[in-house]
Amino acid sequence: MLVGANSDTGRIRQLNEDAFYVGDKLLVVADGMGGHAAGEVASQLAVRTVSSWSDWSQPLVALRAAFAAANKAVLVKAASDSNCAGMGTTLTACLIYNKQMMIAHIGDSRLYLMRQAALRCLTIDHSIVGEMVRSGGLSEEAARSHPQRNILTRALGAELNLDIDIFCEGLQVGDRLLLCTDGLHAMVQMPMIEHILFTYSSPKEAAAKLISAANDAGGADNITTIVADILKEDLV
Ligand code: CA
Repeated sequence: MLVGANSDTGRIRQLNEDAFYVGDKLLVVADGMGGHAAGEVASQLAVRTVSSWSDWSQPLVALRAAFAAANKAVLVKAASDSNCAGMGTTLTACLIYNKQMMIAHIGDSRLYLMRQAALRCLTIDHSIVGEMVRSGGLSEEAARSHPQRNILTRALGAELNLDIDIFCEGLQVGDRLLLCTDGLHAMVQMPMIEHILFTYSSPKEAAAKLISAANDAGGADNITTIVADILKEDLV
């Protein structure tokens, strides 16, 4: 993979509570929430737990186990440290394995796939507005400014019984992946994201331009972008 990744506090927030990881075969993004910097603790704990997972021989089983371990780690920390009470995080991970990618996802961070210049979002947002958009009760545009747009219906660290989405998607040489937090997709519309991914052939440059676009649109939240180009050697 050729990867460019960036995380930025944005123009309003004091802290960056997003976290991410880029490995040879694994990409992870998390967006933490909670008072007193606890969101940062939650997102980093979750990303660290998944990125340090050692046995990926059964990838879907491993992803499920890693997410469960991350959930438990966040819950244990929240219960033992009063500064961390009630913290949680989104968590989206993408593992390249055997010409496919395995995706595990909870929350409202997103994974997009750009293939032959067409951009598609592969994850669904586990948020109140995400559910309203899916049921046809709210437009994508209205969702951006909805007062409840930050409220998640599912998150890591919310309860011991973890409900994640987990699925596979075939990969082709030339595919471009984008993982991002809502600091990007709530600020920048999909045609603009598609335009930037199409225009900048370097993943590093594309990841940086996406951050700039979110900041130009107000930068109301922390912004994290991982852009990864799939190469021939990733699919052997
Ligand atoms: Ca966010």
